[in-house]
Amino acid sequence: MNIFAAIAVPCLLLASAAGAAEDGKGVRIIPNGSQPSAAGPAANFTGSVRVDSRFQGEAPARIGGGVVTFEPGARTAWHTHPLGQTLIVTAGKGLVQEWGGPAQEIQPGDVAWIPPGVKHWHGAGPTTGMSHVAVSESLDGKSVEWLEKVSDEQYGPR
Ligand code: MN
Repeated sequence: MNIFAAIAVPCLLLASAAGAAEDGKGVRIIPNGSQPSAAGPAANFTGSVRVDSRFQGEAPARIGGGVVTFEPGARTAWHTHPLGQTLIVTAGKGLVQEWGGPAQEIQPGDVAWIPPGVKHWHGAGPTTGMSHVAVSESLDGKSVEWLEKVSDEQYGPR
């Protein structure tokens, strides 16, 4: 399931009316502080993970995402995205790993593209937190398929 859909309040409810057209089709801003930070669900994450600035496009758009912050050692479970995912690292130093491949370091300014259906995880380094913007599109209402957790053996030592 889409982790953002599960915790997000529809953007429409949060939007500022200031400057928006009467018909609701205008530019809308989700103000900083209008959405409480959300914890990454324990079923899909290891360690402390926080999601902020969540967004979800309205049909026909199917884009959605948010800013995800991982404390040291924290990471997603293994998962896939039906239409892929883009990660833009904004702080810290972290890791992304594709099933069968080596973990790759990512740092601020790096952009990672996860192709559709590729099993992978992403998260912080063992001693360094990491934040990234995560953007993905939904297919039939789903943007992620969660799999098993990343074990300590799979994660480290590094
Ligand atoms: Mn992903």
